[in-house]
Amino acid sequence: MAHTAAQIVETLAAGRDLARETAIREIRADILALPSIRKHRLSNTEFSTREFVLVRVRLENGIEGIGEAAVLGGPRWAEESVESIQSVIMRYLAPALEGCSASNPAEAAARMGRAAFRNNSAKGAVETAIFDALARTLDVPLATLFGGALRSRVPVLWALASGDADQEVAEAQDKLDRREHRDFKIKLGFASPEEDMRRLTRLREGVPGMRRLVVDVNQGWTEASCRRYLPHLQELGVDLIEQPLPGDDFEGMARVAAHSPIPLMVDEAAFTHREIARAGNMGCGSVYSLKLVKSGGLLALGQAAHVAEAAGMELYGGCLLEGSIGAAAHLAVFASLPRLHWGCEHFGPRLHVSEIVRDPLKFENFELCLPEGPGLGVHLDEDRLREAVRAA
Ligand SMILES: [Mg+2]
Repeated sequence: MAHTAAQIVETLAAGRDLARETAIREIRADILALPSIRKHRLSNTEFSTREFVLVRVRLENGIEGIGEAAVLGGPRWAEESVESIQSVIMRYLAPALEGCSASNPAEAAARMGRAAFRNNSAKGAVETAIFDALARTLDVPLATLFGGALRSRVPVLWALASGDADQEVAEAQDKLDRREHRDFKIKLGFASPEEDMRRLTRLREGVPGMRRLVVDVNQGWTEASCRRYLPHLQELGVDLIEQPLPGDDFEGMARVAAHSPIPLMVDEAAFTHREIARAGNMGCGSVYSLKLVKSGGLLALGQAAHVAEAAGMELYGGCLLEGSIGAAAHLAVFASLPRLHWGCEHFGPRLHVSEIVRDPLKFENFELCLPEGPGLGVHLDEDRLREAVRAA
């Protein structure tokens, strides 16, 4: 764990044998399926039920921590699927953590790093559950272990991804009227660029009260499409363009960014700290999307923010449609960052018809509230959890 965080734990645990008290005793990983309120489309996939893995880590003192491993509709956004995540956790990560204590999440992260290459969503969820159990044991909010919360609310945007322009206009206007969201992200790349431009125009004209507009192409365009459609995006007042080119095309992103009047955001291109530094230093974009599934742990997520800033990029709190558990984990780190220039996009909890926690996150006045109480600040609803467990 980072030096300051280790000191915080030491101070909070004064006089206690924390290593023994928080020895990891049991790790569980269940595949859950929750229906979403509408179909969600990306350039290369679509789904109407969100599947994820719930991780539970039980300690010697009986306290349980929870974590969420997210994927987007199977192994398409990245290589992991809910099936691979469950299997990697039970077959490789859990045995590697035998004899480890939750009082040292850095050691837990290092052991998982040695046990499995990448598999970031699996590792991120287990590390989250370990941190949650430790924070609950110490009776402090999770953000305290990252140095403390600098903010209790984060501006949160809403993503439009049904592909039906009229439905998207109505959905955006409803979010504005409820004062839940005024910044929007629209998913492009699953239709032709011409069709995307018509959808965007309809949205801009149909929702005049909208503030920021982000477009996410999810690697769906070519460099030529970018050059052709950038003037249209500028005319439509688009504020940010997310990952228009394939993730491994650093040179292409840098060329597009060099002549784009709109900032580019790096998402799928950069998972590791070295990739983040390279993307920033090559000028592939001037904003970086922070995600637990890219960093593979909350410790690394906080470090990714510092690397991105040092390489000249502003910060955006990204998501992979996590529900309240995963969103609360991201928020604990986001709250502790000196700067979070673009707010966050953790609208995932509102995309589900129902949740598996008793205390879903609050969306108020266009912001997402950091939950209060020890650990993640959310608690499992065991009845709803039973209903959500997917049959194998
Ligand atoms: Mg994205």
